[in-house]
Amino acid sequence: MSEQRPTFEGEVFYPSAEVVAGARVKDWEALARRAANDLTGFWGAEAEELEWTRKWDKVLDDSDKPFFKWFAGGQTNIVQNCLDRHQRTWRKNKLSLVWVGEKGDVRTYSYFALNRDVSKFANVLKAMGVRRGDRVTIYMPRVPEIVIAMLASAKIGAVHSVVYGGFSVDALQGRIEDSESRVVITADGGFMNGKVVELKRTVDDAVRRCPTVETVIVVQRTGHEVKMEAGRDYWYHDLMKLPLASGHCPTEVMESTDPLYVLYTSGTTGKPKGIVHAHGGYMVGIYATLKYVFDVKDEDRYWCAADPGWVTGHSYIVYGPLLCGATTFMYEGAPTYPYPNRWWHLVEKYGLTILYTAPTAIRGLMRFGESWPNRHDLSTLRLLGSVGEPINPEAWKWYHRVIGKGRCPIMDTWWQTETGMFMITPVPTMPLKPGSATRPFFGQEAEILDDAGKPVPDGEEGYLVLKRPWPAMMSTIYKDPERMAKQYWSKYPGKYTAGDAAKRDKDGYFWVIGRTDDVIKVSGYRLGTAEIESALVSHPAVAEAAVIGLPHEVKGQAIHCYCLLRQGFKPSPELEDEVKQHVATHLGPIVRPEKVTFVDALPKTRSGKIMRRVLKARAQGLPEGDVSTLEE
Ligand code: ATP
Ligand code: MG
Repeated sequence: MSEQRPTFEGEVFYPSAEVVAGARVKDWEALARRAANDLTGFWGAEAEELEWTRKWDKVLDDSDKPFFKWFAGGQTNIVQNCLDRHQRTWRKNKLSLVWVGEKGDVRTYSYFALNRDVSKFANVLKAMGVRRGDRVTIYMPRVPEIVIAMLASAKIGAVHSVVYGGFSVDALQGRIEDSESRVVITADGGFMNGKVVELKRTVDDAVRRCPTVETVIVVQRTGHEVKMEAGRDYWYHDLMKLPLASGHCPTEVMESTDPLYVLYTSGTTGKPKGIVHAHGGYMVGIYATLKYVFDVKDEDRYWCAADPGWVTGHSYIVYGPLLCGATTFMYEGAPTYPYPNRWWHLVEKYGLTILYTAPTAIRGLMRFGESWPNRHDLSTLRLLGSVGEPINPEAWKWYHRVIGKGRCPIMDTWWQTETGMFMITPVPTMPLKPGSATRPFFGQEAEILDDAGKPVPDGEEGYLVLKRPWPAMMSTIYKDPERMAKQYWSKYPGKYTAGDAAKRDKDGYFWVIGRTDDVIKVSGYRLGTAEIESALVSHPAVAEAAVIGLPHEVKGQAIHCYCLLRQGFKPSPELEDEVKQHVATHLGPIVRPEKVTFVDALPKTRSGKIMRRVLKARAQGLPEGDVSTLEE
């Protein structure tokens, strides 16, 4: 470790000499300076590392803000870079995908095999009449065919709309309707927690009300009986055997700005929006962020434990790792099936080197204690990651100590469906502070503003804003470009408003404290939900917590907490008092909760995020709003 290391305030984890020695970016400050001074130079150089059929005229065309055009005039296809180009190198024989089913069945694909199956299925889609620009809805379990379906659609220039396989009929129907898909790709079912999830039945119910759908392609996963409607439904394995499903299919040449996919946001805050990402800029953005942040190397076995149905899965299970020529790992089932050591068993058995997951999963596994991970050899791990919510310092430290054995830096990546790629994130050599996503990625600049658009002093909370364009930025909201301009670019003209509240500290580190809608005002003080929830879960009895503000005659708003207890603890009035006191001791008397309710479950989106607006509505006896994405 360097002698003249700067001192940072608060609790800081500095990178070890070993991490620095192995890292791609040793001097992150120099690279950050370079990118800041020459944004288009930085991104142009990243784009040069990928293949283009025609080179761009301009790295960034900002003549029609906020509809920024990246690599305008350039032609490529993200699949050309995920698959085609690797066929001409030794990577053709490298594993692209290692997949494990919940029952322990394993399938592996070399880059050659993945390219062949994608080509075959691309030919099938063409035969079904799918053309460039058409939307294709994908509603599937976590099986290799979801990756194949996404890539096949992109290969022929169609636009995929992946709907997470845990969503219910209404959510699926709404998304099929909005995207006007003619083809839906699904499976008979999937395995989760030892049970069959009936996907095909959900598709049948949804499609009955969607007149645009002409064809449903069904992957056989579980083998249980499903209804197949003649003339509409086809088995994937039958189609893949047809002579037309040849292993050769030209990759459509796309304009850099042509749409690659539409992905509906999870709906934590309201009605889902169809976020559109384009081939060129998105490709460059996720390639560079994955390369720098997870420092992916050829020796790695990289595991992003999200679902392909979220943006995290799109960018960092499917496209990003393949762009980097990496080996990506995917597991079908639940983390606790059949026992809470399933994940740790997978890490050991498959020698995984990078694990990227969400705070909700970490807290969930923490509940079962350390003995489960401690039964396994986790020494192959070299980097960990977190995404989705602010990670409570308590969970961060557990993850770092128990899973990473104190050796593995944690990449806490703040970003959104809309941003497509990591926006505020460390790289492995950066000093880390538990609970902070650290600093904006190379080339980006963020700031914290008050309502009037003035930067707030360091340490104070305000609106998180991004100041510079980035290549993976959303190109539009599907069928509603006005909404994009209004929702993200109008509060502070020329700047991107993320909708999150955050603070910056003296070291320039950012602390996301929750969504702006969730901020609570008590006696004139503005409090972030993340901070209060972190204080709650630092109490030994509390495993998970959600906090909302409810109207209060004197204080304006009062803090109401919902807590899930750890194994072995029972609710009692004494415990309620103790928990209230614990929060007051940690954050000050003004933050003393009005009420603590012990619950068995918290309302979450299917991606594991707490839906505070639902708790709020329930507490006030109001309608819950759009709950199509609520987990049952
Ligand atoms: P919707 O926009 O429909 O309400 P969503 O915002 O949950 O859904 P995503 O785009 O998947 O859908 O999530 C982005 C949000 O997740 C961010 O705006 C932020 O609130 C939160 N988030 C993601 N990563 C982090 C992180 N590392 N730290 C803190 N918050 C994070
Ligand atoms: Mg959002």
